[in-house]
Amino acid sequence: MTKRYTLRCWLALAGLAMLPALGGAAETPSADQALKELQKGNARFARGKMLQLRRDQARLEETAKGQHPFVTVLTCSDSRLPPEIVFDQGLGDVFTVRVAGNVADVDEIGTIEYGVGHLHAPLCVVLGHTGCGAVTAVAKGAEVHGNIPALVDNIAPAVENARRQNPGADEEQLIAAAIEANVFQSIADIFTHSEEVRDLVTAGKLRVLGAVYDIKTGRVRWLGVHPGQAALLTSISASPAHGGAGAAATQAETGHGAAKTEEAKHEEPAATPEEAEAKHEEPAAEHEAPVKKAPAKKKAEPSHGSGH
Ligand SMILES: [Zn+2]
Repeated sequence: MTKRYTLRCWLALAGLAMLPALGGAAETPSADQALKELQKGNARFARGKMLQLRRDQARLEETAKGQHPFVTVLTCSDSRLPPEIVFDQGLGDVFTVRVAGNVADVDEIGTIEYGVGHLHAPLCVVLGHTGCGAVTAVAKGAEVHGNIPALVDNIAPAVENARRQNPGADEEQLIAAAIEANVFQSIADIFTHSEEVRDLVTAGKLRVLGAVYDIKTGRVRWLGVHPGQAALLTSISASPAHGGAGAAATQAETGHGAAKTEEAKHEEPAATPEEAEAKHEEPAAEHEAPVKKAPAKKKAEPSHGSGH
């Protein structure tokens, strides 16, 4: 081993030691810090330079005492985007909700509430992805069976919205637009049906961001906050279990795309440079909040007692 190589090794180790472990018990990171950690981790992953920190025996022992994830992620079950890998995070860092099409129905919203309310993760990310089979199935009007219709019902309004907003789009363009619209649909559903999430965001204790993962490049494109967030935060609370979205939420969801976006931008001055950059690259103005009825559980009744 040459001297220069040895020096490089030491510098690398020193660098590792200085990397913050945001999921530690001692500190509660801000949403900005959490976002930066995800952005840095995804950049490492996309470059093939993963550090794979906090996946060792010491972290196993540390997290056995309790979990302090710094982010709650709602994403698709698709096998190509496990959040811990694509964000290069470790054990106990990411509180994850995974469901086909990253929909936000009653169980998903309840789980998110646990992550942001009970575990106090300061950031919630709804992560869609390119090539999403669930969104594609709805966009193509594919016939689905079993319990899947009740699942894709959550996606249908986003596809309808994307179709309305992109009248001349071919199928590929429509699917791409629907994937983004579906991210914002899930965020709208979370706000509409979770008073806890609305309260945390209003109090500045939580930020909810949308993003899309590219399965070809491994990169996450940040979409920013929901363009209608300001209106959604004033929604009347409605439990997804009982249906009935609040009037204010419905108004927000059916309202005015561009104007709302400006409003949301003005009210979100604390965006990080990366976020601002992401917004600049991909103005959220194009994402009008989709119209959607209240999510209501449509699961088949079990024929016997609880299996849990
Ligand atoms: Zn998917």
